[in-house]
Amino acid sequence: MTFKAEYIWIDGTKPSAKLRSKTRILADSEELPTWGFDGSSTNQAEGHDSDRVLKPVFSCPDPIRGGDNVLVLCEVFNVDGTPHASNTRAALRPVAEQFAAQEPIFGIEQEYTFFEGDRPLGFPEGGFPAPQGGYYCGVGADEVFGREIVEKHLDHCLAAGLGLSGINAEVMPGQWEFQVGPLSPLEVSDHMWIARWLLFRTAEDYGVSATLAAKPAKGDWNGAGAHTNFSTKAMREGYDAIITACESLGEGDKPMEHVSNYGTGSQERLTGAHETAPWNEYSYGVSNRGASVRIPWQVEQEKKGYIEDRRPNADVDPYVVTRLMVDTCCTALDK
Ligand code: ADP
Ligand code: MN
Ligand code: MN
Ligand code: MN
Ligand code: MN
Repeated sequence: MTFKAEYIWIDGTKPSAKLRSKTRILADSEELPTWGFDGSSTNQAEGHDSDRVLKPVFSCPDPIRGGDNVLVLCEVFNVDGTPHASNTRAALRPVAEQFAAQEPIFGIEQEYTFFEGDRPLGFPEGGFPAPQGGYYCGVGADEVFGREIVEKHLDHCLAAGLGLSGINAEVMPGQWEFQVGPLSPLEVSDHMWIARWLLFRTAEDYGVSATLAAKPAKGDWNGAGAHTNFSTKAMREGYDAIITACESLGEGDKPMEHVSNYGTGSQERLTGAHETAPWNEYSYGVSNRGASVRIPWQVEQEKKGYIEDRRPNADVDPYVVTRLMVDTCCTALDK
């Protein structure tokens, strides 16, 4: 007997990478083999030297096909065995290992927007819906758009064994969020990329697309981010470590290093309005959704917990944001 393995990888499209996948039929007893693809069709190679290598790094049940079929997340390598330039997971591995003793964990809030054709789901043809106000966590056919797809996506993620912790309707019509974690840096990132693939794949069956664009509707409409919640063992046990982490993110050129690697569209989304801080001014504060980094009120009250970096855009690469946060905060916490 055989099963189907859907090999999934992250391509080289800039500024925002796309997911790609293809199917391999394997014999039941077979281990997941290394495979290849045409990098010249994914912005990962030139035509004259086009072969690139897929190495399986994480697999889970395929909830779309069911049965014994699996989803297989891969890292991309060059034929000489070096990680491809687009392989950001390879850069996270040594950093995660270096600071593993601090037990860093992440919960990432993935916001996204459904589109039907060229309009956000729920936007009427040639016009606009009622202004924002009732949509966030709303209920009813006049407030929410796409719930059937959202529920199906959640069920698929859970059936695949991904660490989702919740979903909610967002501030703009057609905009939603799911949360992954808290999990270790590599786990939260692997689960996030598979959850994104399942989102696009699930919506596909409804003739709907999902975008991770930071500002999908211009004007007085909320953007889409990927708030990144972070803690180490020390932060989960005491407040000094919370403050050390917040301060470390503001030191020297750290604010620019982080925000310039936090996905596409920071200048459009991080304006200081719509629950954001200006992209070029670092700040942190308790309960403050207008700060770059928020310390939740319970954390201030209990004097321990986690922090929320609100800057990452919806299309942020989780391998990159977790690497930067671990590197910056855990280096400071090591001192
Ligand atoms: P909000 O919308 O109020 O910002 P959410 O409930 O959407 O918050 O997301 C909070 C996230 O914080 C969740 O993904 C959760 O897993 C994560 N989280 C909770 N505790 C921790 C922790 N100690 N370390 C890291 N992440 C955490
Ligand atoms: Mn071919
Ligand atoms: Mn949230
Ligand atoms: Mn949100
Ligand atoms: Mn948040």
